[in-house]
Amino acid sequence: MNDHAPSRTTPDLLQRPLRMLIGEQWVEAASGEVLDVENPASGEVVAAAPRGAAADVDQAVQAARHSFDAGTWHRLSGVRRERIMLRLAELLEQHHQELVHLEVLDCGMPISLAGKAIERGVDGFRYYAGMCTKIYGVTSDISGPRADFHAYSRCEPAGVAALIIPWNSPLVAALNKLGPALAAGCSVILKPAEQTPLTALRLGELALEAGVPAGVVNIVTGLGNEAGAALSRHPDVDKLSFTGSTAVGKQLIRDSATNLKRLTLELGGKSPVFIFNDADMDKAIPRAANAIFANTGQICYAGSRLYIQKESFDRVVAGIADIARNMRIGDGFDPKTQMGPLISEQQQRRVLEYIDLGVAEGAELVEGGGRFGESGYFVSPTVFNTTGKTGRLTQEEIFGPVLAAMPFSGLEDLATLANDTDYGLGAGVFTRDVGNAHMAAKLIRTGNVWVNFYGGTDKSLPFGGYKQSGWGREGGQDGIDAFLEKKSVYIRL
Ligand code: NAP
Ligand code: MG
Repeated sequence: MNDHAPSRTTPDLLQRPLRMLIGEQWVEAASGEVLDVENPASGEVVAAAPRGAAADVDQAVQAARHSFDAGTWHRLSGVRRERIMLRLAELLEQHHQELVHLEVLDCGMPISLAGKAIERGVDGFRYYAGMCTKIYGVTSDISGPRADFHAYSRCEPAGVAALIIPWNSPLVAALNKLGPALAAGCSVILKPAEQTPLTALRLGELALEAGVPAGVVNIVTGLGNEAGAALSRHPDVDKLSFTGSTAVGKQLIRDSATNLKRLTLELGGKSPVFIFNDADMDKAIPRAANAIFANTGQICYAGSRLYIQKESFDRVVAGIADIARNMRIGDGFDPKTQMGPLISEQQQRRVLEYIDLGVAEGAELVEGGGRFGESGYFVSPTVFNTTGKTGRLTQEEIFGPVLAAMPFSGLEDLATLANDTDYGLGAGVFTRDVGNAHMAAKLIRTGNVWVNFYGGTDKSLPFGGYKQSGWGREGGQDGIDAFLEKKSVYIRL
């Protein structure tokens, strides 16, 4: 039996018009306009979501501000907030199949991947539920000459927080931000990507059902340059947490300067994977293939640059090409599917353009390299040998199933190659030599390093990027700190 099998009936959410959540109301956009929601495996329109814009954002920010100023959420005890968050986690689990169904329909992800991702996302949300009761500052004996003070610090919620997320794993991205934001006591406005509003809207319904007070979670669907820009410019939003592209991240820095919002930016990457000659190749080869082809390459830390120690180059490239050739590509609802479509026609075109560019730059196309199938936004898993070539194929984030493979000599050139990029999100190292593994982990300037496997994160550790892969960290204590302000109180005795 497949644990992640979708419900056979159309989810209830799709049997009624989609509405945004503002305060306790489910509303259309003020303009009355909608945006089509597509199934990327077929290109069919499956729903229409409100095209929220500045007027709607303003209403949502007011609702969040009102709930924050009234203290309807952050003044509840930690125990009460934890209970409500745990109740939401339970509801998410009770509706697991329905949420998986909506996610596969909306973003094309293979069903088993969506199932596992959502399970892990809910686990992460629970991790932060537990933090509601563990927010505390420090007491200080004061370092100055006068000791007759009582001094302490407090952690307080940052206020109204805007959460802007991308389409590649929509519910998990929403939960990754909502968990720490709610645990910190913030009131939020969540803006899902225009392509994937479905699970975010269902999450809003379940949040109300769980007992999150009205106005604490608001959800505005719409376009980035309309609803998103209105949020990032809004003077009454205190905190902005964003996951998306580096280009938009830079725009948000400019837009949020209006009121110096606190910013967390989880951005793109061009993450390298190194395979040493001594690696266990039976594991390294499929794991390096999965590093780039999982979720059709639409993962911020996808291992898109593969460096193979010279002597093993031909063997590893042949092994990965073989995996690419034999992958089952198709509709995410088919349990046998290993790789689904890209999110949209626009992304499909973009990825195909990068493939043409790679060929034009003189890279050798080893496998794939074209559109797959007649309908839907599929691209074949693609492997390039980029030995001796540098160019946009090896430098720019493609966000599709396109691998650039090239040789390296050993520890002596690993750091130079790894760090020759504007990004610094993830890196992989495959070796049996423990010294090589630790040295590589130390030398590579990225926020995450995986040894003898690739990808995946745990809420107990910080997640984020060096360089142009972002600002700040999600996960662990850093994740909640990002939604807290710190205050120091001095009392003269
Ligand atoms: P994107 O274009 O940057 O969009 C991300 C979100 O920002 C969407 O909700 C988008 O709205 C919104 N947005 C776009 N322009 C905006 C603006 N001017 N002001 C405010 N919001 C705006 O990214 P994408 O192409 O959807 O997603 C792929 C990117 O996300 C990749 O670069 C990937 O590496 C990155 N990513 C990073 C992480 C991480 O944790 N580091 C995780 C996943 C993805 P609409 O799209 O709805 O118009
Ligand atoms: Mg976009």
